Amino acid sequence: MMRQYELVELVRRYNPNVDEALLDKAYVYGMMKHGPQKRASGDPYFSHPLEVAAILTEMRLDDATIAVALLHDTIEDTDATRDEIDAKFGVEIGELVESLTKLEKLDFVSKKTEQAENFRRLLLAVAADVRVLLVKLADRLHNMRTLQFMREDKRLRIAEETMEIYAPLAGRMGMQWMREELEDLSFRTLQPEAYQSICGRLTTLREENKNLIPAIEQALTEKLSSNGITAKVKGREKKPYSIFTKVQRKSLSFEQLSDIFGFRIVVDTIENCYRALGIVHTTWSMVPNRFKDYVSTPKQNDYRSIHTTVVGPGRQRVELQIRTEEMHRFAEFGIAAHALYKDGERTVGGRNIQKLSEASGAYAWLRETIQRLNDPNLAPEEFLENTKLELFQDQVFCFTPKGKIIALPRGATPIDFAYAVHTDVGNTCVGAKINGRIKPVMTELANGDEVEIIRSKAQVPPAAWEQIAVTGKARAAIRRATRDAVRKQFGGLGRQILERAFERAGRDFSDPILAAAIHRLGHTSVNEVLAAVGRGEIASDSVLKAVHPELVDKRGQLPKPASADGWFEAGTSGVMKFRVPDGGSDDRTAIPIRGLSGDLPVHFAPAGGAVPGDRIVGILTPGEGITIYPIQSPALKEFDDQPERWLDVRWDIDPAAPSRFPARITLNSLNEPGSLAQITQVIADNDGNIDNIKMIPKAADFHEILIDLEVWDLKHLTRIIQQLRTKPIISSATRVNG
Ligand code: MN
Repeated sequence: MMRQYELVELVRRYNPNVDEALLDKAYVYGMMKHGPQKRASGDPYFSHPLEVAAILTEMRLDDATIAVALLHDTIEDTDATRDEIDAKFGVEIGELVESLTKLEKLDFVSKKTEQAENFRRLLLAVAADVRVLLVKLADRLHNMRTLQFMREDKRLRIAEETMEIYAPLAGRMGMQWMREELEDLSFRTLQPEAYQSICGRLTTLREENKNLIPAIEQALTEKLSSNGITAKVKGREKKPYSIFTKVQRKSLSFEQLSDIFGFRIVVDTIENCYRALGIVHTTWSMVPNRFKDYVSTPKQNDYRSIHTTVVGPGRQRVELQIRTEEMHRFAEFGIAAHALYKDGERTVGGRNIQKLSEASGAYAWLRETIQRLNDPNLAPEEFLENTKLELFQDQVFCFTPKGKIIALPRGATPIDFAYAVHTDVGNTCVGAKINGRIKPVMTELANGDEVEIIRSKAQVPPAAWEQIAVTGKARAAIRRATRDAVRKQFGGLGRQILERAFERAGRDFSDPILAAAIHRLGHTSVNEVLAAVGRGEIASDSVLKAVHPELVDKRGQLPKPASADGWFEAGTSGVMKFRVPDGGSDDRTAIPIRGLSGDLPVHFAPAGGAVPGDRIVGILTPGEGITIYPIQSPALKEFDDQPERWLDVRWDIDPAAPSRFPARITLNSLNEPGSLAQITQVIADNDGNIDNIKMIPKAADFHEILIDLEVWDLKHLTRIIQQLRTKPIISSATRVNG
């Protein structure tokens, strides 16, 4: 246990005029009152107030605050009284100890109304004297550091309360190190498995990068000093909790986690902050979108620093914070650094919070919050919600139309919101109303937004949403839904293929018939076999042979198809010999093609497309699905010697839900001002949609123009081509068959 003189020494380091007599008196009184009391750890109870006092010396607090720390549990836990403390130490200290005693019983993990009331009392006590909060936070920090000795239920309650109230409050007051340590200690208790796995990963990375920190420190220091800047460069490992939130925010796996070190460059003047930044950016390449200037625009809690990330020495990503000595002190100690000690003189108690709020954003926030306490129109629960919103700066809180609150990380979109409500809501989300107005689903949500998700049963979340979503939950769900949808499409295609193969062989097809033979195909479920056929992993013939071994002849072959209704044979001579049904005809054995959003994995000829009205064939590409080609496509030659990949397909357009299809045209056009405008005008007038345009100069005054269009059908495409041909600037217009 720390001795009396050791504590005095800690204070003397920053305050040569320390009131030794006061501290000695408080030490002796506290120790005597707590007497033989023990903590859960078995240590003498008095070790706790002593450690709390020591924590406060790190923040360089005044003698009265240190004395209060030594006495903070006396009224609560011993026979000491307010009167006795007043008589021995004066009213100022007596008031502070009593305030802390009242706060001792506050419980923030309780019913909402109680929570609100308790929070109100905490803020009122803080308003009366900010030092109450500083002692309270130091008290909580020491309790968190020694939490392992408590019973489990108590441990969880205290950790939850710390994560909910005290850590964000410390952050809001600008006390960064306090916030980080409180969060980390709570995290360890609340999510021990996540904590352990991050620590394990950290140990590995630490081992792999043993000399990295000193090497980078040295490289930075030398580079700056050769440019005439004296700087303190300090590298540090990030805390597990901050890594955890980053992993969650960016949906990284721990294995992907690499930049666990942050570096601080502390210089003497603001000017040198920017000079140091210039030197860093000209020496190493900066990582885009990571630069933030909190010097010219400080955060609300007064935090100031320049942030940037560079690909630094040794090709390592290095996160940098550049700041002055003074900014550093504020970043670490926040309000504690602000005015408690100015020129060795105490200038703050409750009395001049008004004045301080002019100088400090943290105080301004505190004052405004406290003023709002007196608003008669604000119910206590509402007050608590509002204030919590502001405590959690890294989160946004939005509401469902029914008023349920949804907490999301900053940067979250309606997609994240939908998945936070329920996975089903996310999977069927097609749009969103924010505060009553339809907005794009990639809109960044703001605090207090009311979000209504527009849903459609037919929806499958687009794969691209995975990149837009910021929450891990949304991303994982989108990935799963996309994978399921693709699997279903392949299963559907597999069924179509098998139904036709069986029909050609004159055999019935059904799930039970297939089920009887799946073990011969090395699979355990009908759906697996269907999907494998759809993906092109199992040929339809193999399934037919497995189900009907009696069909196989002596050479192991199946008989040639007997019926001639729409099957084809591909010649090996380079001449295609196959029968295709007419476009739009009702051919029973052809696979119906709807479009891109249908139930099958369909693509269209990449260099020319295909449109309804075209006579078409499908080519099965293993792992990808069917690609639809117009029969006249020269690209089909390539598949001539792979008859097993040819599929008989037909259009099956739903007139109730028309969609557009891709087609490519080529034009020869005069190159004169306005010619491209004339061309696009014709296409627009005829309801064509342009997807892509490529111009190839052929001569000084002539262009070849390739246009990828989206049209309704062949008639529509033909009309556009005819209209283009009527323009004098166009010498030819034809369709491209890729
Ligand atoms: Mn205590």
